[in-house]
Amino acid sequence: MKSIIQKEKECFFCKNTNNLHLHHIFFGPNRNISDKNGFTVYLCAYHHNMSNESVHMNRELDLKLKKYAQLKYEKKHTREEFIKLIGKNYL
Ligand SMILES: [Zn+2]
Ligand SMILES: [Zn+2]
Repeated sequence: MKSIIQKEKECFFCKNTNNLHLHHIFFGPNRNISDKNGFTVYLCAYHHNMSNESVHMNRELDLKLKKYAQLKYEKKHTREEFIKLIGKNYL
């Protein structure tokens, strides 16, 4: 499914359009759930996993993105549905 987080193909954080990686916001065991529900964003390498300010290295940034994804999801679904899907409430 298409991303429910962003429309443009650019880094979610800095709007860079070069060298983008598709990031699954709920990764690991929830990666497929992210694919199916559009919990994906484009990130530049720097914000993806190549610096201390990247979502895979910086827990705070990772949580910020997860909270944002939950907010977006809850515009069309209930919190119960989110928790059923991801197994956790980030808000
Ligand atoms: Zn970036
Ligand atoms: Zn990633």
